Amino acid sequence: MTFAGNVLQVETYTGSLSPLEFDFLKQNTDWILKHYKRQASSWNQQMRFVQHITNQTLIFGQMVKVEFVQGVNYSYHFKENLLTIQAPVVIAEARKKKLISSVLHKIAHAYLTKTIQHWSQKTGLFFKDLKVKNHRSKWGSCSSLKNINLNWHLVMVDKSLAEYVVIHELMHLKEMNHSPAFWKAVAQFYPDYKKAKTQLGEMQWIIGIYE
Ligand SMILES: [Zn+2]
Repeated sequence: MTFAGNVLQVETYTGSLSPLEFDFLKQNTDWILKHYKRQASSWNQQMRFVQHITNQTLIFGQMVKVEFVQGVNYSYHFKENLLTIQAPVVIAEARKKKLISSVLHKIAHAYLTKTIQHWSQKTGLFFKDLKVKNHRSKWGSCSSLKNINLNWHLVMVDKSLAEYVVIHELMHLKEMNHSPAFWKAVAQFYPDYKKAKTQLGEMQWIIGIYE
C-alpha cells in the first residue's frame, strides 16, 4: 500500500479486490491514512537520523552536533547543541557509533539517577536499586523486589517524557499493575500521562539505533 499525492494505491496478489476488501478499505480510509502517515514520518525521521549517526545525535529531545577531538584521555563535554568527545587516538569512523552510545549511556545514568531521586523524594516512594541499561523494547520496568530498570535511550527523548517513565515506574512500587488505581496515582504527579504515552510510542524507533 502506498500513498502518493492524493491517491492511495493498493497492491494485491490477484490484481483485484473482493467487495468485502473494498468495503473495508473504504470504511477505514481515515484510519489507514493516519497510521500510514505516522509510520512514514517515523520511517523518514529514522532514515535521516541513521544517515548522520556519527556526526549528530539526540540529547533530551534536541538534535546535537557530535564532534571528535584528540586529547590526553577519553572524556566528553556536552553543552547546548554540541557534544564533544575527546579521545587519545584518532577515532575510526567504524568506532564512532559505539563511542557515542557509551557517552549517551553515561549522560543517561547521571540524569536518570538524579531524576529518580528527585521524584522518589517527592512521591515518598522508595526503590531498592536502579539500573540504567539497554533494553530492546521497554523504556522502564519495576520488579516486585523494588528494583527499577530504566532504558538509557531515555536520554534521547524530551526530559518531560523521561520524567513520565520515572514516575510510572515509581508508582509500580505501590501498584504492581496497570489498574485504574495505578493510573490515578500516576495522574496525581503527571496529569498529562496519556499524551506522554503516545509521544513515547512515536519515539520507540530510537531504541536500539546504536546497535
Ligand atoms: Zn507499567
